[in-house]
Formats: sequence, C-alpha cells, structure tokens
Amino acid sequence: MLLLISNLLDYIFHKKCYFCTERANKRIICDKCYEKLKASGAERVKTIKGVSIKGYYFYKGEVLKLIRGIKYHNKKTLAKEIAGIIVEIAGKEHFSPEKTEIIPVPMHHKRQQKRKYNHMEILAGEISLLTGCRVNVDLIKRVKNTLPQYNLNQLERRKNLKDAFRVFPEFYSGKTLVLFDDISTTGATLEVMIEELRKHNIRNITGLVIAFV
Ligand SMILES: [Zn+2]
Repeated sequence: MLLLISNLLDYIFHKKCYFCTERANKRIICDKCYEKLKASGAERVKTIKGVSIKGYYFYKGEVLKLIRGIKYHNKKTLAKEIAGIIVEIAGKEHFSPEKTEIIPVPMHHKRQQKRKYNHMEILAGEISLLTGCRVNVDLIKRVKNTLPQYNLNQLERRKNLKDAFRVFPEFYSGKTLVLFDDISTTGATLEVMIEELRKHNIRNITGLVIAFV
C-alpha cells in the first residue's frame, strides 16, 4: 500500500525531463538526454594569457538552455547534472584534491544578494562533491559591480572589468588554481582574473569553462 502511494505520488508530482517529454526518474534530466549531452561534449583548449583553459561545449542548443536554467531560473538541480558530465568527460584524475583548488568566478555581493546565489559557486560545489577538490571563494573577490558583458565588445569588456577583482593572497593555498566559469566569450573575465592573481605572484593557474561561445 505504501509503495502504491509512493508510486502514485511519484506519478503525480514527477517532473518531466528538462529537455524532453520523458519522465526523469527522480532526476531533472532523463538518462537518454544525459547520455546525449555527455556524448556531444569534447575537450577543447584555448590559451588566455598563456594559461590553458579547457572547455567542453559550445554555447548553443541544450547547453545554452542548461546554463540559462542554472543561472536565471534557479534550477540548482541542473548544476549537479552538468558537474557530473564535466567530471566524467574531463576524467576524475584531472581533479586532484591534493594539488588543485577550484575558484568559481566571483559575483559582486550586491548582485549575489539580488540573485540569491552565485551559480558558479553552486556548480563548483557540485564538482567538489564529486572530486574532493576544495572550492576557494576567499582568494579573489569581485569588488566592482560590473555591467553584464553580453552587449559589450572586447575593449568595453576590459574597461568594464578594470579593477573589478581583488586578490586576498592570505587565502592562497599554493595549489594549482582552476578558474571556473560557465561560458567564455572573449575570455576577458578570465584574462583580468589571471592578471590580478599574477600581480600577487600567483602563477600556477589553469581554467575550466563549460562552454566557449
Ligand atoms: Zn530527456
């Protein structure tokens, strides 16, 4: 009887897959869509300021829907799925808790208050759960409430990001930093973060983005 009720509740409240009409069996994406998404990802590397940045998708189609969902529609459960996929594609061995630390791109506290959360911190937290790598949110802060970047060209982006970040070197662990952003368009955000870290003689840096534009 209990099982029947539980199945019935499952049936009534059960959400459909975020992408298709299938039921997603207590997850937010069905197995089929998860596998399809995983299969469509591949590692690509871009170099920004001599730092190699790994990305796994292009910002379109389902990945665009996924990132927007995490960013604007509070679909935090999606973060768990995309983190799982990224770790599977990249290989768990690339995340060493002894050697690496994840640095999610920081959000200004005013914007974070408005949005209620920094989706990059949530994504980083999910990667941390899967790999054991620590997330460091203290080392670099966004001290300027910058404009959204999507309408700006490369030069305007750089100007917008001037003095946007501040490094607190007392929180540097000495590990390799994995700067982590959702999408990289011109690379300006990561570029400015790398420059700011280097001013403090922090040079052991790599990068990870979900998608390149
Ligand atoms: Zn599906």
